[in-house]
Amino acid sequence: MTAVQTGFDATRADEPREECGVFGVWAPQEDVSKLTYFGLFALQHRGQEGAGIAVGDHENIVVFKDTGLVSQVFDESVLDALQGDVAIGHTRYSTAGGNSWENVQPMFRTSPNGTDVALAHNGNLINYMELQQEAIAKKLIPAAGVKGQGSSSDTAVVSALLADLIRDERTLLDACRELLPRIKGAFCFMITDGHTLFAARDPHGVRPLSLGRLDGGWVIASETAALDIVGASFVRDVDPGEMIWVDASGVHSERFAEETRAHCVFEYVYVARPDSVIDGQTVNSARIDIGRRLARVLPVDADLVMPVPESGTPAAIGYAAESGIPFKQGLMKNAYVGRTFIQPSDTLRQLGLRLKLNPVRQVIEGKSLVVVDDSIVRGNTQRKLIRMLREAGAGEVHVRIASPPVKWPCFYGIDFASPGELIANHGRGGSDAEIAESIRTMIGADSLAFVPIDDMVAASKHAPTDLCAACFTGHYPLGLPEGNPNADLVRRIQRGES
Ligand code: SF4
Repeated sequence: MTAVQTGFDATRADEPREECGVFGVWAPQEDVSKLTYFGLFALQHRGQEGAGIAVGDHENIVVFKDTGLVSQVFDESVLDALQGDVAIGHTRYSTAGGNSWENVQPMFRTSPNGTDVALAHNGNLINYMELQQEAIAKKLIPAAGVKGQGSSSDTAVVSALLADLIRDERTLLDACRELLPRIKGAFCFMITDGHTLFAARDPHGVRPLSLGRLDGGWVIASETAALDIVGASFVRDVDPGEMIWVDASGVHSERFAEETRAHCVFEYVYVARPDSVIDGQTVNSARIDIGRRLARVLPVDADLVMPVPESGTPAAIGYAAESGIPFKQGLMKNAYVGRTFIQPSDTLRQLGLRLKLNPVRQVIEGKSLVVVDDSIVRGNTQRKLIRMLREAGAGEVHVRIASPPVKWPCFYGIDFASPGELIANHGRGGSDAEIAESIRTMIGADSLAFVPIDDMVAASKHAPTDLCAACFTGHYPLGLPEGNPNADLVRRIQRGES
């Protein structure tokens, strides 16, 4: 295995961090490891810190995983060595546990009756502490605080508890039936015992999960774009609270909890690929619609509409179409920068953003611009961006944001940092318009406006009651986790104590 050092993320230090991508395939006639590799490639945007594939051939499960991008972790010879009928894969961003090799997924355990189990997870658990205490009490994982031993992630805890339930004549299916109803939070699990592919989605359906059909098998993936890329046809979404398992007798389904939908609205704004369809809604259409709504409720007189690529692009197209202002690409993104593992010198660190985005002087010089971005989290990117645009000769810079101000942390799988680090909380607060005005002065824009929350929700085409929008509203539909300092801070703020 290659030893890759975790390094400075020059391109993403100021952005929301996606959580993870999961992919699974059951297809005895196919090269399941290569299908999984290309599926993970399609899900690379959901996690860039680690990648892994577990392949089962009915006798053994072999896991290969490492820190780094999918293209850094795997090569042809590794994939050739991973042969079997069923595979699961994972791309990781470390929302729980550090970014060490042990925390890269899939996790592997052997059960008391000798069954191999591999598990991959997208999401964040709310009752992690309770599950961790149980795993420690059963001596399945080292006591908390024992440094350097095993994985610290919530996925490791679930893997340990699940495998421990497979005793005597009990199977992985029995274990899933017993454990899944006890897990609280946002989760999509992909699990295999080397024979059967299991997938489960939490009762709120916070993260997306879809089922697809191959000629000779079945695929389950975080996003439909991953189904497209391996040539699978979309069959349906996995329902919230549903467990699916696939074996030689076909696809089986069972509900382990009643559904109370709370889909992550931020998937539509930023996380998911625009070419994915989540719970019946095309991400690209939702983003274009948000842009149209931005133009209607927050018009501005300008020469050009330009996106902050890539996730601001569909909203900018929508803004331009609705306003009649021409659309142009005034910022070039280096598509190959990805996540660098090289520590930049101080000089390069200052340049920071230019590693990723560079303004096109010929497009923007002397022009009044509407710059459309997906979200503002800490605000450092936008501050640097506006300075860069002015240095390149821009006239006025009007910033339009395709989501409301991010005021609260996410405990369901996206890393936005703590409340104090969010730029929306740096001013005197107040309405979204007042927050926009204080951020405008901080980042140096001529005007700044956020799409109203009702418009963002309407663009997702889901009922407001079927969505989570906690990072904008502070209303957490799944509750807050115990033993989490940021969650304790949120509780204090919401009680008016902080
Ligand atoms: S808090 Fe925000 S990012 Fe997290 S699940 Fe809810 S909408 Fe998505």
